[in-house]
Amino acid sequence: MTSNKQPEVNIGLVGHVDHGKTTLVQALSGEWTDQHSEEMKRGISIRLGYADATFRRCPEEDEPDAFTVDERCEEHDVDTDYLRTVSFVDAPGHETLMATMLSGAAIMDGAVLVVSATEPVPQAQTEEHLSALDIIGIDNIVIAQNKVDLVDEERAMQNYEQIQEFVEGTVAEDAPIVPISAQQEANIDLLIDAIEREIPTPERDPEADARMMVARSFDINRPGTTWEDLLGGVLGGSLVQGKLEADDEVELRPGREVEEGGKTEWRPVTTDVRSLQAGGDFVDEVTPGGLLGVGTGLDPAITKGDALAGQVAGPPGSLPPTHEQFTMDVDLLERIVGDDGGEVEEISTGEPLMLTIGTATTVGSVTSARDGECELALKRPVCAEAGAKIAINRRVGARWRLIGVGTLRG
Ligand code: GDP
Ligand code: MG
Repeated sequence: MTSNKQPEVNIGLVGHVDHGKTTLVQALSGEWTDQHSEEMKRGISIRLGYADATFRRCPEEDEPDAFTVDERCEEHDVDTDYLRTVSFVDAPGHETLMATMLSGAAIMDGAVLVVSATEPVPQAQTEEHLSALDIIGIDNIVIAQNKVDLVDEERAMQNYEQIQEFVEGTVAEDAPIVPISAQQEANIDLLIDAIEREIPTPERDPEADARMMVARSFDINRPGTTWEDLLGGVLGGSLVQGKLEADDEVELRPGREVEEGGKTEWRPVTTDVRSLQAGGDFVDEVTPGGLLGVGTGLDPAITKGDALAGQVAGPPGSLPPTHEQFTMDVDLLERIVGDDGGEVEEISTGEPLMLTIGTATTVGSVTSARDGECELALKRPVCAEAGAKIAINRRVGARWRLIGVGTLRG
């Protein structure tokens, strides 16, 4: 199933493993494009795990029952009206890896937090993902209380109250909680109604310079392709402002690491847009919303294996600066999120931190730590604007754990 209209808003699907995120996206979109075989068929693919869904309304039915994803309203025997196409973004596979969730969060305009009614609230990733939304500043949230078909009314009510208690004082405090069964496709109309109200399409400035957050990059050529037939490297990601057209010239920052005379340096890369793919179709122009594939004139050796993931693309000269070190204001959480979370200790000089800035994830070493701020030297530089939000992770035991949020100093 392909939609003709390009998605205009990105909605993250977050929540604990097995609580029903994938099943819900299937119910809403009739497809789920994170399978490898499907990607191979499409040639250009974006492996961030996403699917587009078109919301519609039956003109003969009262709201919220009128909301649907079907093109026909069987009950009234009429065609349904188009509302908008949205793109659901899911963190791929290893859902415990916060970095993946956080870099996905950089391109989310809102989120659906899926919570299973069959387990006590909160489960570890329910809590982790909610604090990630908090830190990145995503406050348009709908809570889907899923799997209500598996519990009786009393347990469903208890679980509902647990969710209410859990979100009190968080960014999701005022989020509607919609009881659903993704598997039985029950109350999907109510969920669409809540998404339509809580996660509006952001206002965009049509005059702004294009800015693409690159989440993936690939080489789509089969092994053994001769150079005459070689297709340029492909970027996958999302536009956060402006528009891109075929033949546009774009710059990528930080670009590539170049070695010269024993010294290494990062230099921006410039290329042209050869093809654009959005909503499953090739298009001439893309605007923000949804995930897109951009075919470029880059040597595929440069884009292979996500080598350019985390970079920023836009018209040459329009991008924010590249930082190999920076100072950030630091706001630490009180406690480490999750079941075994202890108190968050102050950041100390010399310690390694994992930072997520936009779609980039990089490790930095703290060169100086003072109260409320610290300086870092990065292993891999990042392209980011002053004021950018930075998710700060510290190694605790075998895992990187979210400990706070930074704000990039100018
Ligand atoms: P994810 O890890 O959050 O993506 O969870 P999945 O969508 O893969 O779902 C995990 C399991 O729960 C699968 O076996 C689903 O079939 C099942 N499941 C998901 N939603 C529901 C639901 O509403 N009711 C029931 N009974 N099972 C569900
Ligand atoms: Mg899943």
